[in-house]
Amino acid sequence: MLINKNAQMGEKRPQHELIARCGVKRMEQVQVFAPRGHAETSAAASQHRAEKITVSVDADLLQCCVCSGPLTTPLFQCTKGHISCSECCTDGGMNDECECLMCREPETATRCRAMERVLAGLSMPCAFRQHGCAETIAYASKQLHEASCGYAPCHCPIPGCVGYAGNARSSLSDHVMVDHHDVHHTRVRPGCLTPLRMRAFEQARLLLLGHGHRLAEFLLVVGRDVPSGRSLSLVGLMGEEFEDCKYRIEVVGKNGVLALSGQATRVQRLARPYQAGAFLFVPDAVWESFQLDTPVFIHLK
Ligand SMILES: [Zn+2]
Ligand SMILES: [Zn+2]
Ligand SMILES: [Zn+2]
Ligand SMILES: [Zn+2]
Repeated sequence: MLINKNAQMGEKRPQHELIARCGVKRMEQVQVFAPRGHAETSAAASQHRAEKITVSVDADLLQCCVCSGPLTTPLFQCTKGHISCSECCTDGGMNDECECLMCREPETATRCRAMERVLAGLSMPCAFRQHGCAETIAYASKQLHEASCGYAPCHCPIPGCVGYAGNARSSLSDHVMVDHHDVHHTRVRPGCLTPLRMRAFEQARLLLLGHGHRLAEFLLVVGRDVPSGRSLSLVGLMGEEFEDCKYRIEVVGKNGVLALSGQATRVQRLARPYQAGAFLFVPDAVWESFQLDTPVFIHLK
């Protein structure tokens, strides 16, 4: 069953007109709790055992007309049927009254309680279902769930990598180990300046630091996001169980030493594209001036 995109919820149309074919846009699979019977009080409705049906709706039907964000209650509509979220309604007075930002006409928008009731009855699969999340979530909790869903796609700091499908178990460290066989590993002793002998084309180097009985992993990222040079930055691929670690990166050029020191940030998963908190800018003229190994040194402790 499909709900018509053009249906204007506020108009006094018979219910069956709202349920009609719609276009071929992005569709959301939603489940609707459809109470049997008509004018039930909310108390009676909550006791009622609702029947669940599955429908497909255009995704933009669940978006605010003004900001295109997800519809969140309270909802408002103008007499032309624009439905907007509470953020996009100008507060025009007392009670539920406000002005429609789509029309920009001096008319009063009112609460769209019919659509609020529809939203309250919706549940839908997590957007990361194809990555393995089997959750079906109430519409109102969808954003909250997806922001912290363990199956959300994760980003990777290695240049050119499109990231990986997150799942509840895989960390960035696992991803680097499993999917980046071309990344060289270097064992680093705490407090020792270690030469890395990086190749001009290398995009990252995995550093393994002896830390008690365990090895702490760090990724030295050679970013290409700065013009006419490289951005060298360090990410700690570990959780809170490891102590904070200070680092120093040095690149020894023919005319001097470029260096950056700081405290490594710890990352287990990247929910957003990687942006180094601090990086060492190495001009192309320096990076490419070495035929074989670029003299990069690392100091970790
Ligand atoms: Zn809005
Ligand atoms: Zn309007
Ligand atoms: Zn999920
Ligand atoms: Zn990657």
